[in-house]
Amino acid sequence: MSLIVQKYGGTSVGTVERIQAVAEKVAKSHRLGYQLVVAVSAMSGETNRLIGMAKEIDAEPCLREMDVLVSTGEQVTIALLCMALKNQGIEARSYTGGQVRILTDNAHGKARIREIDGHRIEADLSAGRVVVVAGFQGSDEDGNITTLGRGGSDTTAVALAAALKADECQIYTDVDGVYTTDPRVVSRAQRLDKITFDEMLEMASQGSKILQIRSVEFAGKYNVPLRVMSSFEEGPGTLISLEDDDQMERAVVSGIAFNRDEAKLTIRGIPDQPGVAYKVLGAISAANIEIDVIVQNVAKDNSATITFTVHRNDLNQAEKLLNQIAKDLGAQEVDADDRIAKVSIVGVGMRSHAGVAATMFEALAEEGINIQLITTSEIKITVVIEERYLELAVRALHSGFDLDAPDAEQA
Ligand code: ADP
Ligand code: ASP
Ligand code: MG
Repeated sequence: MSLIVQKYGGTSVGTVERIQAVAEKVAKSHRLGYQLVVAVSAMSGETNRLIGMAKEIDAEPCLREMDVLVSTGEQVTIALLCMALKNQGIEARSYTGGQVRILTDNAHGKARIREIDGHRIEADLSAGRVVVVAGFQGSDEDGNITTLGRGGSDTTAVALAAALKADECQIYTDVDGVYTTDPRVVSRAQRLDKITFDEMLEMASQGSKILQIRSVEFAGKYNVPLRVMSSFEEGPGTLISLEDDDQMERAVVSGIAFNRDEAKLTIRGIPDQPGVAYKVLGAISAANIEIDVIVQNVAKDNSATITFTVHRNDLNQAEKLLNQIAKDLGAQEVDADDRIAKVSIVGVGMRSHAGVAATMFEALAEEGINIQLITTSEIKITVVIEERYLELAVRALHSGFDLDAPDAEQA
Protein backbone atom coordinates (compact mmCIF):
# COMPACT_ATOMS: atom_id res chain seq x y z
CA MET A 1 0.00 0.00 0.00
CA SER A 2 1.43 3.40 -0.96
CA LEU A 3 2.13 5.91 1.76
CA ILE A 4 1.75 9.59 1.00
CA VAL A 5 2.56 12.56 3.21
CA GLN A 6 0.44 15.60 2.41
CA LYS A 7 1.05 19.10 3.73
CA TYR A 8 -1.55 21.86 3.72
CA GLY A 9 -0.33 25.45 4.17
CA GLY A 10 -1.92 28.38 5.97
CA THR A 11 -4.31 29.57 3.26
CA SER A 12 -5.43 25.99 2.62
CA VAL A 13 -6.58 25.69 6.25
CA GLY A 14 -7.39 29.40 6.67
CA THR A 15 -11.07 28.96 7.61
CA VAL A 16 -13.34 26.22 8.94
CA GLU A 17 -14.81 25.82 5.44
CA ARG A 18 -11.36 25.36 3.98
CA ILE A 19 -10.46 22.80 6.62
CA GLN A 20 -13.61 20.91 5.61
CA ALA A 21 -12.50 21.08 1.98
CA VAL A 22 -9.08 19.70 2.98
CA ALA A 23 -10.83 16.88 4.85
CA GLU A 24 -12.70 16.01 1.65
CA LYS A 25 -9.44 15.91 -0.29
CA VAL A 26 -7.76 13.75 2.33
CA ALA A 27 -10.81 11.46 2.49
CA LYS A 28 -10.71 11.03 -1.28
CA SER A 29 -7.06 9.89 -1.23
CA HIS A 30 -7.83 7.60 1.72
CA ARG A 31 -10.70 5.96 -0.16
CA LEU A 32 -8.38 5.41 -3.13
CA GLY A 33 -6.40 3.15 -0.80
CA TYR A 34 -3.46 5.34 0.18
CA GLN A 35 -2.05 5.43 3.68
CA LEU A 36 -1.94 9.08 4.68
CA VAL A 37 0.01 11.27 7.03
CA VAL A 38 -1.08 14.90 6.89
CA ALA A 39 1.00 17.81 8.18
CA VAL A 40 -0.76 21.15 8.58
CA SER A 41 0.17 24.78 9.16
CA ALA A 42 -1.64 27.25 11.37
CA MET A 43 -4.51 29.20 9.81
CA SER A 44 -3.05 31.94 7.61
CA GLY A 45 -2.19 35.05 9.62
CA GLU A 46 -2.30 33.20 12.93
CA THR A 47 1.45 32.87 13.48
CA ASN A 48 1.89 36.61 12.75
CA ARG A 49 -0.98 37.43 15.13
CA LEU A 50 0.66 35.45 17.93
CA ILE A 51 4.05 37.07 17.31
CA GLY A 52 2.34 40.49 17.33
CA MET A 53 0.83 39.87 20.78
CA ALA A 54 4.18 38.80 22.19
CA LYS A 55 5.87 41.92 20.81
CA GLU A 56 3.26 44.10 22.50
CA ILE A 57 4.57 42.76 25.78
CA ASP A 58 8.28 42.59 25.00
CA ALA A 59 10.15 43.75 21.88
CA GLU A 60 12.54 40.84 22.33
CA PRO A 61 10.51 38.06 23.94
CA CYS A 62 12.11 34.99 25.47
CA LEU A 63 12.63 32.48 22.65
CA ARG A 64 11.50 29.48 24.71
CA GLU A 65 8.17 31.13 25.50
CA MET A 66 7.83 32.28 21.88
CA ASP A 67 7.91 28.64 20.78
CA VAL A 68 5.30 27.69 23.38
CA LEU A 69 3.16 30.50 21.96
CA VAL A 70 3.57 30.16 18.20
CA SER A 71 3.26 26.37 18.21
CA THR A 72 -0.37 26.75 19.34
CA GLY A 73 -1.50 27.80 15.85
CA GLU A 74 -0.86 24.35 14.45
CA GLN A 75 -2.47 22.65 17.45
CA VAL A 76 -5.77 24.29 16.49
CA THR A 77 -5.74 23.11 12.88
CA ILE A 78 -4.77 19.48 13.59
CA ALA A 79 -7.73 19.07 15.95
CA LEU A 80 -10.20 20.75 13.60
CA LEU A 81 -9.00 18.69 10.65
CA CYS A 82 -9.44 15.43 12.59
CA MET A 83 -12.98 16.46 13.55
CA ALA A 84 -13.75 17.26 9.91
CA LEU A 85 -12.32 13.88 8.86
CA LYS A 86 -14.54 12.08 11.38
CA ASN A 87 -17.50 13.84 9.73
CA GLN A 88 -16.34 12.27 6.47
CA GLY A 89 -16.44 8.87 8.15
CA ILE A 90 -12.65 8.63 8.37
CA GLU A 91 -10.88 7.67 11.56
CA ALA A 92 -8.11 10.13 12.24
CA ARG A 93 -5.76 11.09 15.06
CA SER A 94 -3.92 14.33 15.66
CA TYR A 95 -0.48 14.70 17.22
CA THR A 96 1.64 17.68 18.16
CA GLY A 97 5.31 17.50 17.17
CA GLY A 98 6.32 16.57 20.71
CA GLN A 99 3.71 13.80 20.89
CA VAL A 100 5.01 12.13 17.74
CA ARG A 101 8.46 12.69 19.10
CA ILE A 102 9.92 14.90 16.47
CA LEU A 103 13.21 15.38 18.28
CA THR A 104 15.04 18.63 17.53
CA ASP A 105 18.02 20.52 18.87
CA ASN A 106 17.26 23.30 21.35
CA ALA A 107 17.73 26.30 19.01
CA HIS A 108 14.36 27.90 19.76
CA GLY A 109 12.80 29.57 16.74
CA LYS A 110 15.09 27.83 14.26
CA ALA A 111 15.44 24.30 15.59
CA ARG A 112 16.71 21.49 13.40
CA ILE A 113 15.12 18.05 13.36
CA ARG A 114 17.45 15.33 14.66
CA GLU A 115 15.24 12.30 14.63
CA ILE A 116 11.62 11.24 14.20
CA ASP A 117 10.10 8.31 16.06
CA GLY A 118 7.69 6.72 13.57
CA HIS A 119 6.25 4.04 15.87
CA ARG A 120 3.09 5.79 16.95
CA ILE A 121 2.28 6.92 13.43
CA GLU A 122 2.95 3.49 11.97
CA ALA A 123 0.63 1.85 14.49
CA ASP A 124 -2.18 4.24 13.55
CA LEU A 125 -1.60 3.72 9.84
CA SER A 126 -1.74 -0.07 10.30
CA ALA A 127 -5.05 0.36 12.11
CA GLY A 128 -6.40 2.20 9.04
CA ARG A 129 -6.29 5.68 10.55
CA VAL A 130 -5.24 8.92 8.93
CA VAL A 131 -2.53 10.63 11.01
CA VAL A 132 -2.56 14.42 11.29
CA VAL A 133 0.63 16.06 12.57
CA ALA A 134 1.19 19.66 13.60
CA GLY A 135 3.74 21.24 11.28
CA PHE A 136 6.54 23.63 12.27
CA GLN A 137 7.22 22.11 15.71
CA GLY A 138 9.07 19.48 17.67
CA SER A 139 10.59 19.10 21.10
CA ASP A 140 14.15 19.01 22.39
CA GLU A 141 15.80 16.39 24.55
CA ASP A 142 14.31 17.93 27.70
CA GLY A 143 10.79 18.04 26.27
CA ASN A 144 10.76 21.80 25.60
CA ILE A 145 8.61 22.81 22.65
CA THR A 146 10.68 24.03 19.70
CA THR A 147 9.79 25.49 16.29
CA LEU A 148 11.57 25.10 12.98
CA GLY A 149 11.57 28.66 11.59
CA ARG A 150 8.98 30.45 9.43
CA GLY A 151 7.51 28.21 6.76
CA GLY A 152 8.69 25.19 8.78
CA SER A 153 5.65 23.00 8.14
CA ASP A 154 7.17 22.16 4.75
CA THR A 155 10.16 20.71 6.58
CA THR A 156 7.94 18.73 8.97
CA ALA A 157 6.20 17.13 5.98
CA VAL A 158 9.40 16.23 4.14
CA ALA A 159 11.09 14.95 7.30
CA LEU A 160 8.05 12.76 8.05
CA ALA A 161 8.12 11.47 4.47
CA ALA A 162 11.83 10.63 4.80
CA ALA A 163 11.44 8.96 8.20
CA LEU A 164 8.41 6.91 7.16
CA LYS A 165 9.87 6.15 3.70
CA ALA A 166 6.79 7.58 2.04
CA ASP A 167 6.31 7.18 -1.70
CA GLU A 168 5.71 10.89 -2.23
CA CYS A 169 5.44 14.13 -0.28
CA GLN A 170 2.75 16.46 -1.60
CA ILE A 171 2.85 20.14 -0.62
CA TYR A 172 -0.61 21.66 -1.10
CA THR A 173 -0.66 25.44 -1.28
CA ASP A 174 -2.38 28.42 -2.91
CA VAL A 175 -0.58 28.13 -6.27
CA ASP A 176 -0.71 25.11 -8.55
CA GLY A 177 3.02 24.49 -8.60
CA VAL A 178 6.44 26.09 -8.75
CA TYR A 179 6.54 28.90 -11.30
CA THR A 180 9.36 30.46 -13.29
CA THR A 181 9.10 33.29 -10.76
CA ASP A 182 6.59 34.47 -8.14
CA PRO A 183 3.31 34.76 -10.09
CA ARG A 184 2.33 37.62 -7.77
CA VAL A 185 5.11 39.71 -9.32
CA VAL A 186 5.10 38.48 -12.92
CA SER A 187 1.63 37.61 -14.19
CA ARG A 188 3.16 35.86 -17.19
CA ALA A 189 5.16 33.45 -15.02
CA GLN A 190 4.70 29.82 -16.08
CA ARG A 191 4.27 26.67 -14.05
CA LEU A 192 7.16 24.21 -14.30
CA ASP A 193 6.32 20.51 -14.72
CA LYS A 194 9.62 19.49 -13.16
CA ILE A 195 12.55 21.06 -11.37
CA THR A 196 15.64 19.44 -9.84
CA PHE A 197 16.42 19.52 -6.10
CA ASP A 198 19.50 21.62 -6.85
CA GLU A 199 17.52 24.25 -8.74
CA MET A 200 14.75 24.32 -6.17
CA LEU A 201 17.34 24.71 -3.42
CA GLU A 202 18.89 27.70 -5.21
CA MET A 203 15.44 29.20 -5.84
CA ALA A 204 14.52 28.81 -2.16
CA SER A 205 17.93 30.02 -0.93
CA GLN A 206 17.75 33.08 -3.16
CA GLY A 207 14.38 34.08 -1.80
CA SER A 208 11.51 32.08 -3.37
CA LYS A 209 9.38 31.48 -0.32
CA ILE A 210 7.24 28.79 -1.89
CA LEU A 211 9.18 26.10 0.05
CA GLN A 212 11.27 26.43 3.18
CA ILE A 213 14.95 25.91 2.29
CA ARG A 214 15.42 23.11 4.79
CA SER A 215 12.55 21.11 3.35
CA VAL A 216 14.31 21.06 -0.02
CA GLU A 217 17.63 20.14 1.61
CA PHE A 218 15.90 17.21 3.36
CA ALA A 219 14.13 16.09 0.20
CA GLY A 220 17.41 16.13 -1.74
CA LYS A 221 19.37 14.38 0.99
CA TYR A 222 16.87 11.55 1.43
CA ASN A 223 15.66 11.55 -2.18
CA VAL A 224 12.02 12.14 -1.23
CA PRO A 225 9.99 12.88 -4.37
CA LEU A 226 8.34 16.19 -3.65
CA ARG A 227 5.35 17.63 -5.46
CA VAL A 228 3.98 21.16 -5.08
CA MET A 229 0.30 21.43 -5.99
CA SER A 230 -2.82 23.49 -5.41
CA SER A 231 -5.27 22.65 -2.66
CA PHE A 232 -7.95 24.54 -4.59
CA GLU A 233 -7.80 22.96 -8.04
CA GLU A 234 -6.84 19.63 -9.60
CA GLY A 235 -3.63 19.37 -11.58
CA PRO A 236 -0.23 17.68 -11.79
CA GLY A 237 1.65 20.44 -9.93
CA THR A 238 5.45 20.53 -10.06
CA LEU A 239 7.60 17.49 -9.36
CA ILE A 240 10.90 18.20 -7.63
CA SER A 241 13.34 15.34 -8.01
CA LEU A 242 16.87 14.30 -8.91
CA GLU A 243 18.18 15.49 -12.25
CA ASP A 244 16.00 14.37 -15.14
CA ASP A 245 17.39 12.76 -18.29
CA ASP A 246 15.92 15.16 -20.84
CA GLN A 247 18.27 17.86 -19.57
CA MET A 248 19.48 18.68 -23.06
CA GLU A 249 16.09 20.12 -23.85
CA ARG A 250 15.86 22.23 -20.75
CA ALA A 251 15.74 25.96 -20.76
CA VAL A 252 19.07 27.52 -19.78
CA VAL A 253 17.38 29.43 -16.98
CA SER A 254 14.52 27.71 -15.12
CA GLY A 255 13.52 30.52 -12.82
CA ILE A 256 14.11 33.92 -11.30
CA ALA A 257 14.26 34.34 -7.52
CA PHE A 258 14.42 37.55 -5.54
CA ASN A 259 14.84 38.71 -1.99
CA ARG A 260 14.22 42.01 -0.24
CA ASP A 261 15.33 40.84 3.17
CA GLU A 262 18.98 41.82 2.97
CA ALA A 263 21.04 44.93 3.63
CA LYS A 264 24.52 45.91 2.46
CA LEU A 265 27.51 47.02 4.52
CA THR A 266 30.77 48.46 3.21
CA ILE A 267 34.03 49.19 5.00
CA ARG A 268 36.51 51.35 3.04
CA GLY A 269 40.16 52.19 3.39
CA ILE A 270 41.37 49.14 5.28
CA PRO A 271 44.92 47.82 4.87
CA ASP A 272 45.46 45.23 2.12
CA GLN A 273 47.13 42.67 4.37
CA PRO A 274 46.68 39.01 5.30
CA GLY A 275 44.13 38.56 8.07
CA VAL A 276 42.11 41.73 7.44
CA ALA A 277 39.13 39.99 5.81
CA TYR A 278 39.13 37.59 8.74
CA LYS A 279 39.16 40.47 11.23
CA VAL A 280 36.19 42.10 9.54
CA LEU A 281 34.03 39.13 8.66
CA GLY A 282 35.10 36.88 11.54
CA ALA A 283 33.79 39.37 14.07
CA ILE A 284 30.43 39.53 12.30
CA SER A 285 30.12 35.73 12.15
CA ALA A 286 31.19 35.42 15.77
CA ALA A 287 28.09 37.48 16.66
CA ASN A 288 26.01 34.78 14.93
CA ILE A 289 25.15 37.08 12.03
CA GLU A 290 24.89 35.27 8.72
CA ILE A 291 26.82 36.85 5.87
CA ASP A 292 25.64 36.30 2.32
CA VAL A 293 27.30 38.04 -0.65
CA ILE A 294 30.92 39.18 -0.10
CA VAL A 295 33.02 41.32 -2.45
CA GLN A 296 36.52 42.71 -1.85
CA ASN A 297 38.38 45.27 -3.97
CA VAL A 298 41.87 46.70 -3.70
CA ALA A 299 42.55 50.22 -4.96
CA LYS A 300 45.81 51.46 -6.54
CA ASP A 301 46.92 52.96 -3.22
CA ASN A 302 46.73 49.44 -1.73
CA SER A 303 43.75 50.20 0.48
CA ALA A 304 40.99 47.61 0.41
CA THR A 305 37.20 47.81 0.47
CA ILE A 306 34.99 44.96 1.66
CA THR A 307 31.27 44.91 0.93
CA PHE A 308 28.91 42.22 2.22
CA THR A 309 25.23 41.61 2.83
CA VAL A 310 23.37 40.45 5.95
CA HIS A 311 19.71 39.97 6.87
CA ARG A 312 17.99 43.32 7.38
CA ASN A 313 17.07 42.33 10.93
CA ASP A 314 20.79 42.05 11.70
CA LEU A 315 21.79 45.36 10.08
CA ASN A 316 21.91 47.52 13.22
CA GLN A 317 23.96 45.04 15.18
CA ALA A 318 26.30 44.41 12.23
CA GLU A 319 26.79 48.15 11.65
CA LYS A 320 27.72 48.71 15.29
CA LEU A 321 30.27 45.89 15.15
CA LEU A 322 31.68 47.18 11.86
CA ASN A 323 32.16 50.68 13.28
CA GLN A 324 34.16 49.16 16.11
CA ILE A 325 36.27 47.11 13.69
CA ALA A 326 36.79 50.23 11.54
CA LYS A 327 38.24 52.05 14.55
CA ASP A 328 40.58 49.15 15.35
CA LEU A 329 41.80 48.94 11.74
CA GLY A 330 41.97 52.68 11.14
CA ALA A 331 39.50 52.37 8.24
CA GLN A 332 38.24 55.42 6.33
CA GLU A 333 34.50 54.84 6.57
CA VAL A 334 31.60 52.46 7.06
CA ASP A 335 28.48 52.57 4.97
CA ALA A 336 25.13 50.81 5.55
CA ASP A 337 22.34 50.53 2.98
CA ASP A 338 19.05 48.68 3.46
CA ARG A 339 17.44 49.82 0.22
CA ILE A 340 18.83 46.95 -1.77
CA ALA A 341 17.39 43.77 -3.26
CA LYS A 342 18.87 40.58 -4.62
CA VAL A 343 17.82 39.02 -7.91
CA SER A 344 19.02 35.63 -9.11
CA ILE A 345 18.66 33.59 -12.24
CA VAL A 346 18.72 29.84 -11.59
CA GLY A 347 19.06 26.85 -13.90
CA VAL A 348 21.06 23.63 -14.30
CA GLY A 349 21.11 24.44 -18.03
CA MET A 350 23.65 27.19 -17.27
CA ARG A 351 26.34 24.56 -16.68
CA SER A 352 26.65 23.92 -20.39
CA HIS A 353 25.91 27.39 -21.77
CA ALA A 354 28.26 30.33 -22.14
CA GLY A 355 27.07 33.92 -22.26
CA VAL A 356 24.31 33.58 -19.67
CA ALA A 357 25.77 36.34 -17.52
CA ALA A 358 26.07 38.65 -20.55
CA THR A 359 22.37 38.11 -21.37
CA MET A 360 21.50 38.91 -17.76
CA PHE A 361 23.56 42.10 -17.67
CA GLU A 362 22.20 43.18 -21.06
CA ALA A 363 18.60 42.81 -19.89
CA LEU A 364 19.34 44.92 -16.82
CA ALA A 365 21.33 47.51 -18.80
CA GLU A 366 18.43 47.99 -21.21
CA GLU A 367 16.28 49.04 -18.27
CA GLY A 368 19.02 51.33 -16.93
CA ILE A 369 19.41 49.24 -13.75
CA ASN A 370 22.78 49.56 -12.03
CA ILE A 371 24.37 46.40 -10.67
CA GLN A 372 26.03 46.87 -7.28
CA LEU A 373 27.34 43.36 -6.56
CA ILE A 374 27.58 40.12 -8.52
CA THR A 375 28.03 36.57 -7.27
CA THR A 376 27.79 33.29 -9.13
CA SER A 377 27.65 29.54 -8.57
CA GLU A 378 27.51 26.71 -11.09
CA ILE A 379 23.75 27.03 -11.51
CA LYS A 380 22.93 30.61 -10.49
CA ILE A 381 23.95 34.22 -11.00
CA THR A 382 22.93 36.76 -8.37
CA VAL A 383 23.05 40.54 -8.55
CA VAL A 384 22.37 43.13 -5.87
CA ILE A 385 20.51 46.21 -7.11
CA GLU A 386 18.62 49.18 -5.72
CA GLU A 387 15.36 47.93 -4.18
CA ARG A 388 13.11 50.27 -6.13
CA TYR A 389 14.11 48.53 -9.38
CA LEU A 390 13.38 45.03 -8.11
CA GLU A 391 10.10 44.31 -9.90
CA LEU A 392 11.36 45.91 -13.11
CA ALA A 393 14.50 43.75 -12.97
CA VAL A 394 12.55 40.54 -12.36
CA ARG A 395 10.23 41.29 -15.31
CA ALA A 396 13.13 42.24 -17.59
CA LEU A 397 15.00 39.03 -16.79
CA HIS A 398 11.85 36.94 -17.12
CA SER A 399 11.37 38.26 -20.66
CA GLY A 400 15.10 38.32 -21.41
CA PHE A 401 15.37 34.59 -20.80
CA ASP A 402 12.18 33.82 -22.77
CA LEU A 403 10.24 32.67 -19.74
CA ASP A 404 7.08 34.75 -20.36
CA ALA A 405 3.91 32.80 -21.11
CA PRO A 406 2.48 33.54 -24.56
CA ASP A 407 -0.07 36.40 -24.71
CA ALA A 408 -3.52 35.36 -23.54
CA GLU A 409 -4.94 36.30 -26.98
CA GLN A 410 -2.43 34.10 -28.76
CA ALA A 411 -2.68 31.18 -26.39
P1 ADP B 1 1.69 28.08 2.31
O1 ADP B 1 0.96 28.94 3.29
O2 ADP B 1 0.80 27.11 1.62
O3 ADP B 1 2.92 27.45 2.88
P2 ADP B 1 3.31 30.13 1.05
O4 ADP B 1 2.71 31.49 1.08
O5 ADP B 1 4.38 29.79 2.02
O6 ADP B 1 2.14 29.07 1.14
O7 ADP B 1 3.88 29.85 -0.42
C1 ADP B 1 3.08 30.03 -1.56
C2 ADP B 1 3.39 31.38 -2.20
O8 ADP B 1 4.74 31.39 -2.67
C3 ADP B 1 2.58 31.70 -3.43
O9 ADP B 1 1.35 32.31 -3.10
C4 ADP B 1 3.51 32.62 -4.25
O10 ADP B 1 3.14 33.98 -4.15
C5 ADP B 1 4.86 32.46 -3.59
N1 ADP B 1 5.94 32.16 -4.53
C6 ADP B 1 7.18 32.72 -4.51
N2 ADP B 1 7.93 32.26 -5.50
C7 ADP B 1 7.18 31.37 -6.19
C8 ADP B 1 7.41 30.54 -7.33
N3 ADP B 1 8.59 30.53 -7.98
N4 ADP B 1 6.41 29.73 -7.76
C9 ADP B 1 5.23 29.72 -7.11
N5 ADP B 1 4.93 30.48 -6.03
C10 ADP B 1 5.89 31.30 -5.57
N1 ASP C 1 2.76 28.64 10.75
C1 ASP C 1 4.17 28.74 10.49
C2 ASP C 1 4.50 30.05 9.78
O1 ASP C 1 3.60 30.85 9.53
C3 ASP C 1 4.71 27.56 9.76
C4 ASP C 1 4.20 27.36 8.36
O2 ASP C 1 3.17 27.92 7.96
O3 ASP C 1 4.83 26.58 7.62
O4 ASP C 1 5.63 30.30 9.50
MG1 MG D 1 4.88 28.18 3.26
